Amino acid sequence: MNEGAPGNDLEVLLDTETLDRRIAELGREISADYRGRPLRLVGILKGSWVFMASLARRLELEVTVDFLGVASYERSTEPTGAVRITKDLDHSIEGLDVLVVEDILDTGRTFEYILGVLSAHRPRSLKTVTLLDKPSRRVRPVKADYVGFTVPDVFVVGYGLDYAQRFRHLPDVRIFRPA
Ligand code: 5GP
Ligand code: MG
Repeated sequence: MNEGAPGNDLEVLLDTETLDRRIAELGREISADYRGRPLRLVGILKGSWVFMASLARRLELEVTVDFLGVASYERSTEPTGAVRITKDLDHSIEGLDVLVVEDILDTGRTFEYILGVLSAHRPRSLKTVTLLDKPSRRVRPVKADYVGFTVPDVFVVGYGLDYAQRFRHLPDVRIFRPA
């Protein structure tokens, strides 16, 4: 990568090889768990986009995909940290085996909200996979069924994750420390 490329000064937490290896493992585990059953992946925009593309290609299943857009209200104006839908599903999930794909599980507010919304659509089953988990930050009692990596309480970017919409395209996960 070029010397002056965006993010080059950021410390790498998870390199591409480590990410590839773990996502392949997750793919094998999920493929074994759903063997013989079609699976609908629901990616949470925008952060899950890169991880979802990598994971989907590791699944030896009949896979279909959809996306749900969510945004958090600003904490300053919404003390509950409430979440809202910015893009609904394109296709019904009623009666389907659904796996929600997230970039990172932090306080748990987003997960809790999404699971409430999706379970109201009566899927056959509803499970979750997150690339990253920060359990030390949890305020809601939720956990993912599949976790790529448990990470410390640092702000990470890359592999889909942003800081003010930047760095999503980085091929690895890096630590962002505001100056
Ligand atoms: P939660 O509702 O669990 O607190 O928030 C999860 C969402 O917060 C993630 O989907 C992500 O958008 C954002 N988030 C939490 N921690 C980080 C982080 O370390 N880096 C980035 N880029 N986003 C984060
Ligand atoms: Mg997100």
